[in-house]
Amino acid sequence: MMNLIMFGPPGAGKGTQAKRLVEGRGFVQLSTGDMLRAARASGSELGKRVAAVMDSGSLVSDEIVIELIDEQITANPGVAGFIYDGFPRTVAQAVALDGLLASRGQRIDLVIRLVVDDHELLNRITKRFEDQGRSDDNPETFVKRLAAYNNQTAPLLPFYGDRGLLREVDGMASMDAVAAAIDTSLDS
Ligand code: AMP
Repeated sequence: MMNLIMFGPPGAGKGTQAKRLVEGRGFVQLSTGDMLRAARASGSELGKRVAAVMDSGSLVSDEIVIELIDEQITANPGVAGFIYDGFPRTVAQAVALDGLLASRGQRIDLVIRLVVDDHELLNRITKRFEDQGRSDDNPETFVKRLAAYNNQTAPLLPFYGDRGLLREVDGMASMDAVAAAIDTSLDS
């Protein structure tokens, strides 16, 4: 049972690489962003509660995403592994995830950091905005999401680095090269 975190700013390719590991290794992708978008699309109370915060480019509350992850871990017993995509995003979330795993006799095995420079992130997100029309991909909101990453999420790098769990992958490389680098980390 593998617990893998795909780490990096919005637009780094976390979701793309997570989906490949789902197909290749039978892991289950746990994307809090996808869960929250699904909640919004369903018109649920939760969806209504998080809509404005998501549209502003800020993070929703720790309690909400921790609850979503807890539910999904429980809902998927006996899987080959979980890939956390877009979670944890704050130190409080990371501490909570450690607790959720410990209570099940598990732990984080690896954190893969996809490293992409800000200029390239903006290029990618601008293109995704044109292709998919995701409202929080508009350039003004994206700048806020990037700031949230730098202020609230980047502090997780030493949190995991100090425990020797962090592997850096050049996220500027081609999709296939990134995939190969991730496979090397997972298999070593
Ligand atoms: P993402 O698709 O992962 O970029 O997430 C889209 C938006 O959902 C983010 O900008 C946040 O508003 C919210 N969100 C997703 N995951 C989290 C999380 N782990 N913590 C707080 N907010 C989140």
